Amino acid sequence: MKKQGIETIALHGGYQAKNGEPRQLPIYQSTTYKYDTSADMGKLFDLESDGYMYSRLANPTCDLVAKKIAAMEGGTAAMLTSSGQAANFFSVFNIAGCGDHIVSSATIYGGTFNLFSVTMARMGIEFTFVDPDCSDEELEAAFRPNTKAVFGETIANPALTVFDIERFAKAAHAHGVPLIVDNTFATPVGCRPFEWGADIVTHSTTKYMEGHASTIGGCIVDSGSFDWTKYPEKYPGLCTPDESYHGVTYTERFGLGGAFITKCVAQLMRDFGSTPSPQSAYLLHIGLESLPVRWERHCSNAQKMAEFLENHEKVTWVNFPGLPSNKYYDLAQKYLPKGSCGVISFGVKGGRAAAEAFMAHLTLASIETHVADSHTCCLHPASSTHRQMTDAQLESAGVPADLIRLSVGLENIDDLIADVENALAQI
Ligand SMILES: *Cc1c(COP(=O)(O)O)cnc(C)c1O
Repeated sequence: MKKQGIETIALHGGYQAKNGEPRQLPIYQSTTYKYDTSADMGKLFDLESDGYMYSRLANPTCDLVAKKIAAMEGGTAAMLTSSGQAANFFSVFNIAGCGDHIVSSATIYGGTFNLFSVTMARMGIEFTFVDPDCSDEELEAAFRPNTKAVFGETIANPALTVFDIERFAKAAHAHGVPLIVDNTFATPVGCRPFEWGADIVTHSTTKYMEGHASTIGGCIVDSGSFDWTKYPEKYPGLCTPDESYHGVTYTERFGLGGAFITKCVAQLMRDFGSTPSPQSAYLLHIGLESLPVRWERHCSNAQKMAEFLENHEKVTWVNFPGLPSNKYYDLAQKYLPKGSCGVISFGVKGGRAAAEAFMAHLTLASIETHVADSHTCCLHPASSTHRQMTDAQLESAGVPADLIRLSVGLENIDDLIADVENALAQI
């Protein structure tokens, strides 16, 4: 059968209604599941049969949404988490522990950087952060004998660097470790990292996937292509018996396609409980159905906005990978042929004061820390999230005082440009 397009999978992947069943995904609002005999339930606890026992671990509504995302990414298995933070934490902690090491791109989401460099460092996991544009020698030098994975973001939030997935996948595989890619800003509509060699994909579904600023959530997808059994000494958690599950060996019982996600649910979800609610999964599911259409509009609106800004006399610089003048234009053409998301950053003449004046005169774009939402939103870090920093500190953190981040939504583009043009005129 011909492979279905992403628009079709977004609507029909995962839940498929049988004769007389609800058209829309049912919300299974239940903590627990009833069984006829203790023996039936016992088989579930030994992971010997499929089914549900307690919604902290798994719930049918959440699983069906994960199944849709797995199909959209072209993966073999997936799980939802209560946030993108939980997804990134689990994706690494599932295969690394105290005494292990991870190579990560340095341009990643601030929350992930903090998770890695502070909180997971306290757990005894060391991270080496590399410039995504580093030389081959620098990348090579980052690996250690105890390295367990490589991590990067397809389009980094907020730096908007484009990650050379193919290059980093080759380097990871040469060292016998998987590549984990946070695909939040690109979504599977913009880029499917597995097609470029990535092994695990994570998402903050809070952004474009849910898309309407209603629901925090995350997801982990496995490609099923990384062969853990080649490195049993490196990945004992996947390749040797788990005493907390009656000696099951995940790679033997669930194969390469299922081992990573099954272990992640059975151990990490059981112990940390970062469980999404079925209501949240349902809202995400509604968002996913229209993601391909929304994604196209976010990209085309942002492209027009970026071109408008680049030609405006009061704008000093524009960072958007879809502009031919951008450093990442060629990588964006390769990995993001449908467009390079809806987020733009730019600077205005006159620095901090001018940026504050610009923000004050917006009427349509709302001031929020959020991004990747159907409503256009705008942030001036120097006067909000980063206000405790001096201009010099901001400059060295890569967030200059004049930087404005604009997340272009789905409004009429002429209305949006008129709003920005008016605010620029007020500076
Ligand atoms: C927002 C974001 C996260 C964190 O996700 P939450 O859903 O807020 O926990 C992780 N990675 C990227 C790229 C993000 O944009």
